Amino acid sequence: MKLFKIRGGVHPDDRKKLSANKAIEPMPMPKLLRIPLQQHIGAPAEPVVRKGDKVLKGQLLADSKSVISAAVHAPTSGQIMAIGNYMAPHPSGLPIRTITLKPDHDDRWIELPAEVDPFTLTLDEIVKRVADAGIVGMGGATFPSAVKLGLRKRYELHTLVLNGAECEPYLTCDDRLMREQADDILDGIRIMMHALQVEQALIAIENNKPEALAAMREASSGFNKIKVINVPTRYPMGSEKHLVQTLTGKETPARALTADIGIVVHNVATAHAVHDAVRFGRPLISRVVTVSGGAIQQPRNLHVLIGTPVQDLLDYCGGFLEQPSHILSGGPMMGHPIPDTKVPVIKGFNGVIALTAKETAIRPPMPCIRCANCVTACPCGLVPLEMAARARNGDLQGAVDLGLMDCIACGSCAYVCPAHVPLVQYFNYAKGELTLRQRAEHKQAETKRLAEQRAVRIEHQKKAKREAMMRRRQEAARKKAAAQTTETEV
Ligand code: SF4
Ligand code: SF4
Repeated sequence: MKLFKIRGGVHPDDRKKLSANKAIEPMPMPKLLRIPLQQHIGAPAEPVVRKGDKVLKGQLLADSKSVISAAVHAPTSGQIMAIGNYMAPHPSGLPIRTITLKPDHDDRWIELPAEVDPFTLTLDEIVKRVADAGIVGMGGATFPSAVKLGLRKRYELHTLVLNGAECEPYLTCDDRLMREQADDILDGIRIMMHALQVEQALIAIENNKPEALAAMREASSGFNKIKVINVPTRYPMGSEKHLVQTLTGKETPARALTADIGIVVHNVATAHAVHDAVRFGRPLISRVVTVSGGAIQQPRNLHVLIGTPVQDLLDYCGGFLEQPSHILSGGPMMGHPIPDTKVPVIKGFNGVIALTAKETAIRPPMPCIRCANCVTACPCGLVPLEMAARARNGDLQGAVDLGLMDCIACGSCAYVCPAHVPLVQYFNYAKGELTLRQRAEHKQAETKRLAEQRAVRIEHQKKAKREAMMRRRQEAARKKAAAQTTETEV
């Protein structure tokens, strides 16, 4: 199949060898699980259990009450110890609503429905099963998958793309899943194709994963509408829009969805979760996580219950060879610093990467030398040096005019910058500031709207009072006139 070249991109040392040959191992049961109610894009789930309740594995703990949200389930059987705030697995470390579950070590499932043939279900029934299972994009995007599977109602879709690129250095969890559970992933892909009613599926795997390519090719042989495509190893190949462009040559317009050009993209681990949910009724309560980096004693790929503390994963991998300079969730290009190793693994966590000072090689920034390396590396066709200059000078609108909102924060520009200008930090700062300003403007507009509504309401009340008084006066006058008439007649 012909592939299309995308602009920009970089070739960081992928360091996948550290964990690529480590088969997926189940983690021992943790002492406590902390299960955040917001592990996805959208509104947090609402608890349906109380402190003290005993729950079974797979039982619903919190339900999604909004269109964009995802349900949360018990990863094992045990008792609810608390429903309160706990440190978020996010760089801010700010507290978020979290359910604490103490495992009883029986690991007893709820009564699961009998296995069904997904192809006998209606399209809406499939989408509902995916929503009920609380599945979100497992490549890190965490967008509720049921919403994406429902896109056929609004868009003319023809292709499902499966993202098995895993272009971030160090991460090997998708690679191992494809090697070890290719048949289950393929079943999930067929179910998603059916739900989306698309003509074909393209499974994209970078050419640095030959075993995964072979496993997926073998699993898909006999399904002529499903093709496994060997894509070049080039970061950020796993970016949704760039992957679509590589496979089809079609560019997704700025701030549009790939669905606008008829294509839906899901991660291969999401396809695996869809197989579990639709065929067997099993909710999303665990995932595969790569624990790697130069500071890790024994890098591994672990099958982890959602809510397991990051510290348990580090301990299981033998702790540190040396004190890491950074511990990240996700890869080193787009991952986020973990605020504390007590934070739990959530549905979008694909890696815990502990990097040594040598690996991060942070050097002091110097003035920009206008070499334009960052321009050449940007896969989105932006001019990072100019955007950063605007952001640094507080000219946020100027940065927006240059395409700040199209920046996918891939870090390619910063990776090639010889002056070590912290370009992505400028972009993240500017985006954060813009969000705060938008929120403040929204709040101001909302306050004004409420004040106007109140003024209108008070005016209505005054008018109603005046009218009532007028009516009472008229009634009194009418009665008085009637009484005078009666007196005259008498
Ligand atoms: S790569 Fe760095 S030094 Fe070169 S133009 Fe961009 S910001 Fe300036
Ligand atoms: S971080 Fe943004 S500006 Fe830099 S290369 Fe990636 S998309 Fe371009």
